[in-house]
Amino acid sequence: MGGTKILAGTLARDGTVGRTIEVQTPTSSQEAFLVELDALLEQLLSDGAGAIGVGVPMNIDRKTGIGHRAVNLPLEELDLARRLRERFGIPVGLENDGNAIALAEWRLGAARGTDDLVALALGTGVGGGIVLDGRLYRGWAELGHVVVDADGPPCQGNCHGRGHLEAVASEEAAERAARALWGEDADAHRLVREALGGDEAARAALERIGHYLGLAIGSFVNIFAPEVIVVGGGFGIAAWELLRDPAFQAARREALEPADTEIRIVQAAFGDDAGLVGAGLVGFEALDGER
Ligand SMILES: [Zn+2]
Repeated sequence: MGGTKILAGTLARDGTVGRTIEVQTPTSSQEAFLVELDALLEQLLSDGAGAIGVGVPMNIDRKTGIGHRAVNLPLEELDLARRLRERFGIPVGLENDGNAIALAEWRLGAARGTDDLVALALGTGVGGGIVLDGRLYRGWAELGHVVVDADGPPCQGNCHGRGHLEAVASEEAAERAARALWGEDADAHRLVREALGGDEAARAALERIGHYLGLAIGSFVNIFAPEVIVVGGGFGIAAWELLRDPAFQAARREALEPADTEIRIVQAAFGDDAGLVGAGLVGFEALDGER
């Protein structure tokens, strides 16, 4: 589930994605959102799924299972796993979307075989997840809400912070840059397209975004010393070629020795599907009684 769209689908244990359905995220109310979610699940469960896995951009209390406020969705104080379990009568696993992405890339994707990784998903907002010592960290990992521009632009949705990574290195940030260059109708897709076509102003705007991304990565390296940093999300994948070099340079500048020379930043193997695959793996964990 993202701030712009919900991608739902069936997943096999080996990570193979079956039928998928994509809908615009209903943002008017929690009720409207849940009605749409139920309809999506009813369609997919007819394919014979044994469990449901959900990745949601909320912080989930590990003791109670209750999701607190979502930054970019109309969801608040919701026990979604219990609600779905009661409605559909099969095991349900619920995980923060950033954690789910980290799980997918660690188990089956770009970080397979490592024990320590940081995953960042640049979409409407910025999600993140961490694997440390060979275990998915299942707590609060709001990596998109670290400060990279002191007293910078306000963050999004329900976040009242300023200069957070999400405020300066998300699709929303790219859209703001595009509007500043070409007017109200311009969007992040155009910014990426023009930059790839050689437009200097567009390239500079994306370099700035990549620089901020790298500042955050440098700090994460100093905290977690991950073997690899995986960058995904719809915007992160689309703009990867333009973000990679400035991000790498900034990360190397900020990271302590000897990590600075060893930083590996790679593109998410599952691209925009990482959240879907990770949610599916969470569903398998629920099916196997691991949740
Ligand atoms: Zn924030």
